[in-house]
Amino acid sequence: MRTYRVAYLGNDSEAALLIKGALERAGLEFIAASHDSAGVRKISEFDCDLVLWDLEDSNPNEPTPVAQLRKAGLENMPVTVVVPKDQEEAAAKSLAEGAADFLYKPLERDPLPRILTALSTGQRQRRIAWSNRVIEDTGRQIRGILANMSDPAYVVNPEYQILYMNRAAEEIFGEGLRGGTCYHVFHDREEPCEACAKGRGPSRWRAVLKNGKSYRFMSAEIRNSAGELERLAVATDVTVDEEVRKIYKTFISNVSHDLRTPLAAIDQYVDILQDGLAGDLNEEQKRYVDVIKRSSFRLGNLVENLIDANKILSGRLKLKLEKAGIGEILEMVLGHLRAQAEDKGLELKVTIPDNVPHVYADKALVAQVIANIAGNSIKFTEHGTVQIRAGYIPRDEGRIIISVEDTGIGIPADDLGNIFELFYRVEGDKVYVEEGAGLGLSISREIVRAHGGTLWTESLEGMGSAFHLTLPVHTDESGAH
Ligand code: ADP
Repeated sequence: MRTYRVAYLGNDSEAALLIKGALERAGLEFIAASHDSAGVRKISEFDCDLVLWDLEDSNPNEPTPVAQLRKAGLENMPVTVVVPKDQEEAAAKSLAEGAADFLYKPLERDPLPRILTALSTGQRQRRIAWSNRVIEDTGRQIRGILANMSDPAYVVNPEYQILYMNRAAEEIFGEGLRGGTCYHVFHDREEPCEACAKGRGPSRWRAVLKNGKSYRFMSAEIRNSAGELERLAVATDVTVDEEVRKIYKTFISNVSHDLRTPLAAIDQYVDILQDGLAGDLNEEQKRYVDVIKRSSFRLGNLVENLIDANKILSGRLKLKLEKAGIGEILEMVLGHLRAQAEDKGLELKVTIPDNVPHVYADKALVAQVIANIAGNSIKFTEHGTVQIRAGYIPRDEGRIIISVEDTGIGIPADDLGNIFELFYRVEGDKVYVEEGAGLGLSISREIVRAHGGTLWTESLEGMGSAFHLTLPVHTDESGAH
């Protein structure tokens, strides 16, 4: 391992000898040089960790040691000035320009402890300078990425004042808005949006901008180089999405209402037949009526799903948030899932460690999500196991992760990016299962997002799939879970 290298720059041979003796005793390397350009060259080649620069006999008008080293390209070499007792002013000037420490002359008989302190101060200064450079470089890179992004991005301070806009944002908001308040970029808005006013943590929202287009916004808190809190927001143009949503909305709304009434009638008349109110049924007739009943039940489920999807598309999904245990939520759907798995001869395993904290969630909706994804796993698995697991991730103030894994048919890589779209179903010879309308996953994702969580999947065709969802942990006022 390389030992520390210390250089003495000055004309005081007695001081140089004293320092040399002390350093060699501690096993450190040492060189002495004059405090001029030849000396600076020498220490540059020596690659030293600390320069002890003697200010005695130096010209008060010449640049400070730090300035001279900087000029020679050695800005990261820590300097400690060595000053006679009556030259404190020169020492102060050097410290102000970036010297790490100073030593009084005449030196103590054993200067080693003071030199080691100066060495450690210098190393700390070097590490801080390095970290600052990394922070600055990262900041520059981020600004570069933001500047060249085609999506609008801007940074605001806690008073909602726009501090930065990238080119795409300037084109939409108009450059004149820099320094103005961010909510003025929105169509018809005179006060901060709920998402921002709520403060803290990342948030998402949709809004129409003054150019008449719809955007999806994502924002997160960042700290600037002075450590002050700011918020970075990035917007994506979802105008086309919104148009499609509108069409879906109208379609779903019409279809679901048109189906509901005849379905209710079918149900009612089937009940009448089953109860024998229209006369006794023979065994064959009973079987047929059972089939009608089951089919109308499935259709009824589909209509309920359509109505849910419509609520979500219209932003009418209201959460009833409360503290809830994962076990308690799972209990709401496990009976039904167990029966489904048993029908297909599959093993359904559930693992919830005792110490998993509570979530802050709408129990019925989260249960619906689990029923959807675990129901899919059972539907698309012919042999093996469906496993539901829960765990805790200590990230973003604590999250619960619930995973559903199966050993089923898996999802082809080409479809994986689309399965959360409304009405999307994988179609193929082996894969297509008749039951289902491609609604479950898109509804589930919206429900999880509305909770501030994430739902995603990993899958290998022919091997199986895993769906994971995260939810925020319930935190009571004392911060305990
Ligand atoms: P559906 O009602 O059709 O199941 P979803 O939105 O729940 O609608 O799922 C969309 C599609 O994603 C399914 O039709 C199926 O092709 C695929 N899929 C979902 N879960 C799984 C799974 N566990 N294994 C294989 N394919 C799946």
